[in-house]
Amino acid sequence: MGKTSKDKRDIYYRLAKEEGWRARSAFKLIQINEEYNIFDGVLRAVDLCAAPGSWSQVLTKKLRQNAENVEDVKIVAVDLQAMAALPGVIQIQGDITKLSTANEIIKEFEGKNADLVVCDGAPDVTGLHDIDEYVQSQLLLAALNITTHVLKKGGVFVAKIFRGKDVTLLYSQLKQFFEFVTVSKPRSSRNSSIEAFVICQNYQPPEGYEPTMVNPLLDHKYCDFNQFTGPNRFIVPFNACGDLSAYDSDTSYPLLLEGQTSYEYKEPVQGPINPPYKEILDKTKFSNKCWRNINA
Ligand code: SAM
Repeated sequence: MGKTSKDKRDIYYRLAKEEGWRARSAFKLIQINEEYNIFDGVLRAVDLCAAPGSWSQVLTKKLRQNAENVEDVKIVAVDLQAMAALPGVIQIQGDITKLSTANEIIKEFEGKNADLVVCDGAPDVTGLHDIDEYVQSQLLLAALNITTHVLKKGGVFVAKIFRGKDVTLLYSQLKQFFEFVTVSKPRSSRNSSIEAFVICQNYQPPEGYEPTMVNPLLDHKYCDFNQFTGPNRFIVPFNACGDLSAYDSDTSYPLLLEGQTSYEYKEPVQGPINPPYKEILDKTKFSNKCWRNINA
């Protein structure tokens, strides 16, 4: 394939090079803005999962247009990978699912809030859709957690989302924090990709909500539910059912249960039809037979 074939196949790849963007993704953010005006009045922004940096380039250009003084513009870009420097962009190399990274971002804002948080985070896709969707949703929730620490009330959050079968659960989580949640697919995003972007406008956390990096759905390290109060305590209720006098599934019982006088072994009602260990069992039976024949 010649040098120009990708330029023929992917118009946004070609245009990105011609216009000086580090990646074709720049057009996704530009097109989202054309529809939702997400940069209106924005001076401070966080770019999560930013490398190689085309969204940071777009942010720099748009936010500087908004500012009377370039010094008023603040852009913090975060990625696992190192990113070549961009003038006016503060870079943090870190994992957005880690508390330490969230703290570094918060520190950069020195007590002030961001007007906009964007996240184009994508895991290394495995091709196993369920896993890819799960990891992507983890990134989105990590980005939301960081957002709740730094975004001003009324602010905007834009994030990549995979439109998988559990996507409505994510929408309803986002709706807890934003008045408007819309999903958008820019023209520059390939139809063959399940990616889309959530545009979350007018950040309004539930009254009394305390930002926390603990995510009960994802973080299995935390153990003390009681550390949460008010709306933070909203967790899926856990309910034990079955009569207390019912057998305990973790206890061994004698073969003769209370009131019984005899015990008879019964085969399971339905064994596995074709279990993965069947092949090994068959091979073992065969080799045992051979072994007996040799020794006969
Ligand atoms: N918006 C970028 C641009 O315009 O140049 C492109 C982002 S690229 C599609 C996705 C990025 O997500 C990768 O650079 C990857 O390193 C980053 N990423 C994935 N998981 C991450 C994580 N847990 N923390 C930080 N960055 C992550």
